[in-house]
Amino acid sequence: MTQILDRIRASLIGLRMPKALESLDHMMRCLERGEISALEAIDGLLAQEHGNREGRRVTMGMKTSRLVPIKTIEGFDFSFQPSLDRERILALAQLDFIERAEVVHLLGPPGTGKSHLATALGVEAVRAGKRVYRATLAEVVDMLSRAERDGRLPERLRFFARNSLLIVDEIGYLPITPGGANLFFQLVNQRYEKGAMILTSNRGFAEWGEVFGDPVVATALLDRLLHHAVVVQIEGASYRLRAHADLIPEHTRSHASITPPPLQKRRGRPPKHRSFDLQIG
Ligand code: ADP
Ligand code: MG
Repeated sequence: MTQILDRIRASLIGLRMPKALESLDHMMRCLERGEISALEAIDGLLAQEHGNREGRRVTMGMKTSRLVPIKTIEGFDFSFQPSLDRERILALAQLDFIERAEVVHLLGPPGTGKSHLATALGVEAVRAGKRVYRATLAEVVDMLSRAERDGRLPERLRFFARNSLLIVDEIGYLPITPGGANLFFQLVNQRYEKGAMILTSNRGFAEWGEVFGDPVVATALLDRLLHHAVVVQIEGASYRLRAHADLIPEHTRSHASITPPPLQKRRGRPPKHRSFDLQIG
């Protein structure tokens, strides 16, 4: 008996299962007292270790995905944002859009929860074992520009491609130089129909020419980013300013309406299998 227990201990150490090792003695006592069956003891040991590892994996995943500070779907107050269809967000949280390599656009004025929801969907994806990376558009463009300068652009693009979900936050807050827009286009083109994205913006699609400093690149970007796309538009008040609503001038109090996406006309090529599965609302 002691011999067997020693062997189990040695195996648990060899297999790097500290949690199971820790609870082995307790499990044995429960077993001896007849409180649990042998099967339950094995289950208990493995479940503890597995739970511990999963917790570590998810915590690490959140950090490498840059999803800190963590936001969750459970932590989102849908009653504060009645224009938002809760069921649609819950459906997105099932993550089928990642399998389908779709693009989710979260649009709305500042403070309406776009970054919160993008991060929360990213957290769901990490929990489900997906590789995720989150950055602002300015950060993405900066990373690509540096890589290009150092002659490592292909490597950087491969880094982004390794993630099955790329979250690009804050499109529209800072203007992008035409060079930066070109680099972002390369990234989008590489992911097109291969990797899912979540994009958040406070600007309507009609303003993308201005955001990217180049209407031609903006059109090419939208062409890819609106094909197989889900558009979620949030029209509500800022959660950040909720305690001070009375101090904010009426005209800036949201309802800064966002122009619906212009229907893309394909030039040159026939629109064969280009279905337009936009769901606005
Ligand atoms: P946006 O990206 O649209 O500007 P954020 O998602 O950054 O807005 O939201 C601003 C802050 O308010 C964040 O701390 C976010 O967690 C919180 N927040 C926004 N909307 C909600 C909500 N409906 N329920 C709970 N917290 C919210
Ligand atoms: Mg934001």
